Amino acid sequence: MTNPHDHHPPQAGVSGHSTKQAYTERSERSETIREAYSRMQHDTKGKASTEFMKNLKNQLRLLFWETTAGCNLECIHCRRLDVSKEIAKDDLTTEESFAFIDSLAETQRPILVLSGGEPLFRPDIFEIARHAIECGLTVALATNGTLIDERLAKKIFDTRIQRVSISIDGADAKTHDNFRKLPGSFEMAIRGINHLTRLGMEVQINCTIAKHNVEQLKDLYELALRLNAVAMHIFMLVPVGCGVQIAEDQMLPAQKYEESLNLFYDLSKNAKIQTKATCAPHYFRIMRQRAKQEGITVSPTTHGMAAMTKGCLAGTAVCFVSHKGEVFPCGYLPVNAGNVKTQSFAEIWNDSKVFHNLRNADLLEGKCGICEYKKVCEGCRARAFYQSGNYLAEEPYCIYEPKIAHGS
Ligand code: SF4
Ligand code: SF4
Repeated sequence: MTNPHDHHPPQAGVSGHSTKQAYTERSERSETIREAYSRMQHDTKGKASTEFMKNLKNQLRLLFWETTAGCNLECIHCRRLDVSKEIAKDDLTTEESFAFIDSLAETQRPILVLSGGEPLFRPDIFEIARHAIECGLTVALATNGTLIDERLAKKIFDTRIQRVSISIDGADAKTHDNFRKLPGSFEMAIRGINHLTRLGMEVQINCTIAKHNVEQLKDLYELALRLNAVAMHIFMLVPVGCGVQIAEDQMLPAQKYEESLNLFYDLSKNAKIQTKATCAPHYFRIMRQRAKQEGITVSPTTHGMAAMTKGCLAGTAVCFVSHKGEVFPCGYLPVNAGNVKTQSFAEIWNDSKVFHNLRNADLLEGKCGICEYKKVCEGCRARAFYQSGNYLAEEPYCIYEPKIAHGS
């Protein structure tokens, strides 16, 4: 069994000078994630971070594309291997993928996250990445990391992919491997991360937080530091999309959510690496409540990037394209907005009803509808959908009672 404490920050595999030089040369040729956000912020024409957060022009900032349904693992929150092989037959072809990228780049310049399934399972993934970069998009890769050996790490680096996010779902091998249902997958993912960081690649650790690892939040954060990651993003499990199979027994109760997000707030204050709570919209309410208690105002100086974004971004700054070309507000909200095989991306992004609805916080219902934090939080629309069949209903995993409900 792997002991995560054995994984010390990797030493540069090549000399410090040549790593830095290679990284600088590469950065000159394409936009980094930080530069992409900086450009987007400039494009909003808003001086203050609140303008960026409000995103009144519905600027698409992150597009998650399930490049393939195929995968080499069969995690407990996802599809079975035989199923994934079968449905991968419907993946967009290379030509369809190029046409989609062209259509996307004509209208928006988001960070394009190539995900899956397992994107490295797709034989033409580097062709696709290169095409997107040539179209002016900033490209990131979301992978389970198990296939990344030295050669593949170099290929990712040379392709000018700007960041690789790797899922680590337990602070130790046992927890992670049980979740991933593959003995040795933790070790393989760690090895993949080390191959990448040795080359100077930006690595982001993604952690799905649920019952199996909720007590390991601090250990996961420390592991991310030891691995030299630039960012740690936590995802609070959502019981729809491919997470549907473990919904009931893995979901955290609302009170535990609250405690975990408060702990994550404490960890984030270290500011050693970028931290982000994704798909935990009420974190943005908790962040403001805690800042108020501390007598500080939330700003990029005090709270980094978290001060410039809001809770649920589905359909406002984020969207998801399935391996078949269907467009959804996010990967967990199965309300179809269109298909890139038959429509231009611009038409779907600008005109679809579900996106219009999600962009209007006044349409929120239940306690989210009357909540004073709704514009910075919005609640998880996917969890609302799972609970009630209505994606505008209240978030079921939030313990907060809006002030207005008490007449204050
Ligand atoms: S609806 Fe929003 S918060 Fe929920 S999973 Fe999707 S993006 Fe995340
Ligand atoms: S009630 Fe809804 S909008 Fe308010 S903090 Fe909770 S989830 Fe967010």
